[in-house]
Amino acid sequence: MTQIPQETNWRRADFLPYARADITEAEIAEVVDTLRSGWLSMGPKTIEFEKRFAAYTNATDAIAVNSCTAGLHLALAALGIGDGDEVITTPLTFAATANVAVHLGARPVFADVRADDFNIDPHAVERAITPRTRAIIPVHMAGHPCRMDELLDIAAAHNLPIVEDAAHAVGARYRGKMIGSIGTATAFSFYVTKNLTTGEGGMVTTNDADLAETMRTLRLHGMNRDAWARYSDKGTWYYEITAAGYKYNMTDIAAAIGLHQLRRLNDFIEVRRHYAALYNEAFADMDTFVLPTTRADVEHAWHLYILRLRPETLRIDRAAFIEKLREANIGTSVHFIPVHLHPYYRDTFGYQRGDFPVAEAIFDQAISLPLYTTMTEEDVFSVIEATRAIAHHYRR
Ligand SMILES: *Cc1c(COP(=O)(O)O)cnc(C)c1O
Repeated sequence: MTQIPQETNWRRADFLPYARADITEAEIAEVVDTLRSGWLSMGPKTIEFEKRFAAYTNATDAIAVNSCTAGLHLALAALGIGDGDEVITTPLTFAATANVAVHLGARPVFADVRADDFNIDPHAVERAITPRTRAIIPVHMAGHPCRMDELLDIAAAHNLPIVEDAAHAVGARYRGKMIGSIGTATAFSFYVTKNLTTGEGGMVTTNDADLAETMRTLRLHGMNRDAWARYSDKGTWYYEITAAGYKYNMTDIAAAIGLHQLRRLNDFIEVRRHYAALYNEAFADMDTFVLPTTRADVEHAWHLYILRLRPETLRIDRAAFIEKLREANIGTSVHFIPVHLHPYYRDTFGYQRGDFPVAEAIFDQAISLPLYTTMTEEDVFSVIEATRAIAHHYRR
């Protein structure tokens, strides 16, 4: 008990949130300009944002939507995924990745991840393929690209599209190629915690012109092309519904934020990379942790810094470790509760604990430390100090 007072040494004075958006006067002025323009929904700024995003990701088309979830849903719908189909994805993702398959009547089939980069294991994907498989949805976990060449080979051999969930991976590269230019379609998230934010928003990129056209139509009720502009001077009142589409368009208010965030994105990633390097350096000598690895053939977007505890070295479990960090005034998160462990997925599809042991072990041991551009180096050092102190204190 005599050691307990030492705990106060590793406590920050103020609470450091787990994530926070980086918004400057440039974004604010652009939003105000949009409001003053009177064109608030999808319009010129959304079109401009799409053009710049396509150029940035080196994709031929970028379709702006109101979330990554919407983007994934659009892509699967445009590819004709439907009743009785199977879609292979990772269990170590946010539920939205699998939910969208369910929305279309398809069955989410999970393939376990690799322990090194937390990404879907191409061998497990191969084993999960059946005659009903219609698509593969890899997730670039934490911003570290999946083994795309292996996945593309498998997809080609079985004539399957790849829809990438790049919610974490805007700005990442795989073997020199931008994420967004590789798979059949790639969905990005601009949710408030992500590397680039528009508050809520997303984008789908593709190099397939027909698929792009279908996604554009489905994005706005299934109206024929450019019907959104019917209130502009070029528009007419007439439109046709060519499919039962969705209401998934981005607004110009969101695009106004996105235009400036995109300009700043490479700088954002640079800061994230630097902070991740500080964490890696500070924890390198500690046998209580497994640190994130970066494969040599990728440029990591560093959306998340996921520290993995080695339970055999510690007297406290992950939940207690997080509680100790919270007491030290440091916010954290866990990525992710594996999708197959959620009640809906257990009850509907019969999944249970033990089905995907690598993803489950990562979930049991993972802590996402604060990693964002509005935190200072001092903040990073305070996280390091607390994390090291807690590990030393509770070491076996
Ligand atoms: C955030 C996230 C999503 C959902 O993004 P939204 O823009 O909120 O719809 C999907 N997949 C992963 C892996 C995510 O982290």
